[in-house]
Amino acid sequence: MTAAAEKTNLLGMPKAKLEAFFESLGEKRFRATQMLQWMHQRGVDDFDQMTNVSKSLREKLKEIAVIRGPEVVYDETSKDGTRKWVMRMDNGNSVETVLIPDGERGTLCVSSQIGCTLDCTFCSTGKRGFNRNLTAAEIIGQVWVARKAFMPFEPGPDRPITNVVMMGMGEPLMNFDNVVDAMNLMMEDLAYGISKRRVTLSTSGVVPGIDKLAEVTDVSLAISLHAPNDELRNKLVPLNKKYPIAELLAATKRYFSRLPDKRKATIEYTVIEGMNDKPEHAHELAELLRDIPCKINLIPFNPFPESDFRRPSMNATRRFQAVLNEAGYIATIRTTRGDDIDAACGQLVGQVEDRTRRSQRYINVQQVNS
Ligand code: SAH
Ligand code: SF4
Repeated sequence: MTAAAEKTNLLGMPKAKLEAFFESLGEKRFRATQMLQWMHQRGVDDFDQMTNVSKSLREKLKEIAVIRGPEVVYDETSKDGTRKWVMRMDNGNSVETVLIPDGERGTLCVSSQIGCTLDCTFCSTGKRGFNRNLTAAEIIGQVWVARKAFMPFEPGPDRPITNVVMMGMGEPLMNFDNVVDAMNLMMEDLAYGISKRRVTLSTSGVVPGIDKLAEVTDVSLAISLHAPNDELRNKLVPLNKKYPIAELLAATKRYFSRLPDKRKATIEYTVIEGMNDKPEHAHELAELLRDIPCKINLIPFNPFPESDFRRPSMNATRRFQAVLNEAGYIATIRTTRGDDIDAACGQLVGQVEDRTRRSQRYINVQQVNS
């Protein structure tokens, strides 16, 4: 028998790939439809439970394939309802996935890489270096695990996961193919059926990736800008030296001009005390974005131990917001959620093993569960 590691993991395959897989077995393409529904809508990972699949095909599948999601090593809900999972991936490394409930909306924040190569100076993920890209199965596996946590439930307005943002660990456009496969599954009616308006990819500005993305999908796009001029952005986002602001905003405009509907870009702006939080920065930003249809999301910097940056006062952030509002922009301040369980933006560190305080908590959880 084939070792588990060599078997094909069906979890990350979008419909077209599953159809090709079944055709290669001499099976009809509609098997892909059945498989998607079993895996993603019912959370089933055992071929024997698939009652509309013939016994002989189930036996064959058991020989050559698996349905394997990440292993949950930690699952905690914050006082404000934010829920965080730490999920262990195949080589033993972990990523964090966060669900943020807000009224009827539930936004799942999904990771695309273990670590990140881009090293933004204010980001704890960047500070930890890069390990590897996640597979499509590992990316959609985070949605799969989160959804399974709420099984059984019927599709409808009170679904726990209504939105997905690729804003966890990693730069999604640096793991292009796997992220696109996973986002296709998020939007697939036979899987999670989330509308393209509610699946958002966040990028720090990989310009060729934005153009390539427009060719294969029409998800919503968030741009991590953080600064109104190149001099300042070079300090915060080193990738800016390669793709400066003018090129990034031009690519953003191209992306949205290709969409058939009128959607706006989200501009993310992490507000850091003494760095980019002055009213003059806000005025410069308002000028810069003049002809970009967008809304602006201000994220007060979330401190972490390895960083000397500080969170701005709420007053400073509100002043910044007011300048943008007066200039005619919709600018919102992202409230920090899940702080007590380290689930806030930029605290998604992963590699839990090297963090003593957390490790101790996991050990406690494991002890309670065993
Ligand atoms: N790599 C992608 C997506 C992940 S980061 C990107 O950079 O867009 C998701 C968002 O959180 C980005 O806008 C990022 O700039 C922001 N962020 C990272 N670290 C932060 C911190 N310490 N405080 C506040 N926001 C942070
Ligand atoms: Fe990577 Fe985004 Fe963090 Fe920058 S902000 S280091 S691109 S995860």
